[in-house]
Amino acid sequence: MDRIGRLRQEMRRRKLDNFLVTRLSNIRYLCGFSGSAGVLLLTPRKARFFSDFRYREQAAEQVSGADVIIYPDELMKELRRRPLNMAGSIGFEALFLDVSTYNQWREIFPLLDWIPTTKLVEQIASVKDPDEIEKIRKAVKITDAVFAEILKMIKPGVSELDLSAEISYLHKKKGADGDAFQPIIASGPRSALPHGIASERKIKAGDMVTVDIGCFYQGYASDLTRTIAVGKVNPKMKQVYALVLEAQSRAIAAARSGLKAKELDEVARSVIREGGHSEHFGHGLGHGLGLEVHSEPRVSFLFDDLLMAGQVITIEPGVYIPDLGGVRIEDDVLLKNSQAEVLTKSPRDLIVL
Ligand code: ZN
Ligand code: ZN
Repeated sequence: MDRIGRLRQEMRRRKLDNFLVTRLSNIRYLCGFSGSAGVLLLTPRKARFFSDFRYREQAAEQVSGADVIIYPDELMKELRRRPLNMAGSIGFEALFLDVSTYNQWREIFPLLDWIPTTKLVEQIASVKDPDEIEKIRKAVKITDAVFAEILKMIKPGVSELDLSAEISYLHKKKGADGDAFQPIIASGPRSALPHGIASERKIKAGDMVTVDIGCFYQGYASDLTRTIAVGKVNPKMKQVYALVLEAQSRAIAAARSGLKAKELDEVARSVIREGGHSEHFGHGLGHGLGLEVHSEPRVSFLFDDLLMAGQVITIEPGVYIPDLGGVRIEDDVLLKNSQAEVLTKSPRDLIVL
């Protein structure tokens, strides 16, 4: 069944007569449009994609499975002009419709029953088809290659920002659309910041350096983290590295469909807990990868969702000790009914430069 067909099936299950898609990555997933403005509206018999003048050619070229409507002025004016024959209920993406726009829609369609939803398209999109998996493999391959080159540049005196600039350049140079997120380069004590984006700090001998990078390739994301040692590092950090690696390896070995997200999280978390660092691992084990860097499924202690074959997730335990430093190791894996396949190929043992 096609993607819009699967969404319609889910709408029926939830008794939604109509559905409004406003998250751009979901629009892209459902009808192929990759531009930055538009909405997709499903009524009982029709799927319509609305956008403006700037996207006339692009929408004509990319959109499939929906009628394209290019409005000459404003979406709201177009909605008032056009008979859409909507009745009953309409689901909308509660996390991706701002209050002011929502109020305008309600004003135009006051008789509809507006039902907030979350993750509806995201859950359908979490299981990848072979073509999507190929794109993720390509994105991962580019990021692995960028990491290998960046390793040669990490040395005392080089700033985090220098490395970050090289990563962004190399991603594009190797064929990516661009970075999937601002590169995280956190050196020395800054490595204790789980999301320390690059600063002016210069690398020093004895630093642990966490590098978390990813790109989009034809819309699909990669996400890789390694923590490396520059010269002789604090032996305590080496122990922390071994612990995080053990936690990650066990989670990779356990990852498969049918497991609950929180059960997989617990595989890694129990190792870190037994190592005495449970309070230093404050985030979830990982997340789905797709047209967004952080997508479904969320792999953390908070979620019961059953993992499914065809989902691509990250496995990224970390230990962060304030004022000392941190270690995170992140790989991207394709879930299967048996042992998961690790897509990222960068070496996982501690690299000492
Ligand atoms: Zn990452
Ligand atoms: Zn990640």
